[in-house]
Amino acid sequence: MAENRKITVAHGDGIGPEIMDATLRILKAAEARLDFEEIEIGQKVYEAGHSSGITGESWESLRRNRIFLKAPITTPLGGGYKSLNVTIRKGLCLFSNVRPCRSFYPYVPTHFPHIDMVIIRENEEDLYAGIEHQQTDEVTQALKLISRPGCEAICRYALEYARAYGRKKVTCLTKSNIMKISDGLFQRVFEEVAADPRYAELETEHRIIDIGAALVAARPEDLDVVVTLNLYGDIVSDIAALVSGSVGLAGSANIGFDAAMFEAVHGSAPDIAGKDIANPSGLLTAAVMMLVHIGQPDVAERIRNAWLRTLEDGMHTVDVYKEQVSKQRLGTRAFADAVIERLGEKPRHLRTAAFGHRDLEVKLPSIPRKKKELVGVDVFLDWDESNRDPAVLGKKVEPLAGDTFALKMISNRGVAVYPTGMEGVYCTDHWRCRFTARKGAKPSHAEIIALLGRVKKAGLDFIKTEHLYTFDGERGYSLGQGE
Ligand code: NAD
Repeated sequence: MAENRKITVAHGDGIGPEIMDATLRILKAAEARLDFEEIEIGQKVYEAGHSSGITGESWESLRRNRIFLKAPITTPLGGGYKSLNVTIRKGLCLFSNVRPCRSFYPYVPTHFPHIDMVIIRENEEDLYAGIEHQQTDEVTQALKLISRPGCEAICRYALEYARAYGRKKVTCLTKSNIMKISDGLFQRVFEEVAADPRYAELETEHRIIDIGAALVAARPEDLDVVVTLNLYGDIVSDIAALVSGSVGLAGSANIGFDAAMFEAVHGSAPDIAGKDIANPSGLLTAAVMMLVHIGQPDVAERIRNAWLRTLEDGMHTVDVYKEQVSKQRLGTRAFADAVIERLGEKPRHLRTAAFGHRDLEVKLPSIPRKKKELVGVDVFLDWDESNRDPAVLGKKVEPLAGDTFALKMISNRGVAVYPTGMEGVYCTDHWRCRFTARKGAKPSHAEIIALLGRVKKAGLDFIKTEHLYTFDGERGYSLGQGE
């Protein structure tokens, strides 16, 4: 007989303890081959002075067991507290967020009775790196970081997932028409990975996120697996959950190379905590995903089918209850009992769950490093003089370029305003002066430092620089609009 798998569980805050008790009772009744190690996370831990909501000891448990079933927690409002989810994602390198969205019509109302899509969202990068600066009185910035290994991991995971779970199509969503370098990398890597003969059976496509999000809202039944960057994924997964009507029933998985965390999509619902009315289905769905992930698909199927049958039998918690379709309004505990009573049964109308073993292989290839060459520098200035006339600034900056560089252009919010530019462009106090290497010159860091010295001496306030590089001769920076 297979050994039990030890997992870490946390009961969380609000309705967390009630829905976790219900879920664990169902897991035990279904004879899941699991041992549970409990940790405390969330509000009490935050209030005890741990700003991340988790203690060192609990981290030990997560690092040891590497599978985490987590109830929702209440994030205290106000300063100083860090998001526990972000901490865990980063600490365990959980690069992929997987959110299946299904409709359970007619038991859960929706305009789209046949939704069955999975949104796979990159989880660690993008604007969520949280690197933000205010650089001038008027201008702020957030850095969008997209790495090749990050793209590789998520695109491979999505294609592996689609293949292993018998899906037909993977749609990649980006804004590569505008962000040609960052989103462009994501699209390129997706297309490279999709060309692997391993995925020959799958239909793959790329769409721009705006039409993609509209499709999720208007034609969700046409989508199968969707893979996208962190921010877009955050948005489209909520749209998907809403149109399927089953946000309260949805679970999600955060998957890494050798660790994973499973939780309900909803929060700790403090308004109904302690009343035995919360629906445990979101956490139970997450637990089913966990069982498939750790190689217990037989138990996952048993639970999922019993749960589908419970829904069909009209045994509903208050959030799902509708006079016309429901038979009984059940509390959290009674709902868990109803699922347990149906273990071994299958749904009669909804599609029976059949998971089988899933072997997902996410290996990152080693890619040779490219030849990187410094070809220029963008110097950003905070400048608020002379009615912000670009010609005045241009005349001031041009002579500072020296022998190595030439001033190629000045732009304001990405739009070229000097030496040529569009009439009447509104200029903020944030200017980018692009210096590129003169013909035959080989710029170095020392020359950039000397250039900055001249800029400072001329009384100009430089606020940051971005070096311009080529990689194997290919331009590694975008052109200004109108450059
Ligand atoms: P919420 O999801 O907790 O609640 C929104 C509404 O849905 C409430 O009316 C609630 O009663 C209802 N609801 C939620 N889950 C339900 C369930 N299982 N059964 C029946 N009804 C349910 O969202 P919120 O009120 O915005 O957030 C409450 C707290 O949860 C906040 O502190 C928030 O930070 C936290 N939160 C935590 C997580 C997490 O731990 N992953 C996720 C989201 C929100």
